[in-house]
Amino acid sequence: MIHYNLRCSADHGFDGWFNDSASFDKQAKRGLVECPVCGDTKVERALMTPAVSTSRAVAPVEPVPEAKAEVLPPAVPAMAGGGRLPAQMIAMLQKLRAEVEKNCDYVGPELAEEARKIHRGEAEERAIYGETTRDEAEALAEEGIELRQIPWVPRADG
Ligand SMILES: [Zn+2]
Repeated sequence: MIHYNLRCSADHGFDGWFNDSASFDKQAKRGLVECPVCGDTKVERALMTPAVSTSRAVAPVEPVPEAKAEVLPPAVPAMAGGGRLPAQMIAMLQKLRAEVEKNCDYVGPELAEEARKIHRGEAEERAIYGETTRDEAEALAEEGIELRQIPWVPRADG
């Protein structure tokens, strides 16, 4: 749908919704678009109303020339395809890994067990890291223990 601001030959402003610019042209030519003030059918488009609904901005079905400003692709910072990470991001993740290694105890595959112990007060409270399965992580979450998953990249020094 397109929203048009319209203007009759007597300069009355009004507006209307149309499927697309072609359907407006067709209706206007047949005299089906008339001014609500004076009934004039010599109607022309005034300027477009900018940006209306988000769904339209996200999924432009049929880009209309007049609506170019509205159909820009949404700025979604998504990574597509699972290809290689940009070098900048790898560097960032390497830094993150180094921080984790420096500040947390490595408990390896005992991660879930150790997290439970800490949660129950049976082990010293500290930050730990290690490996676990998705199922275990979900089970932990149900017990109120949140794990944070971070993308693990090879170290900067190999
Ligand atoms: Zn009019």
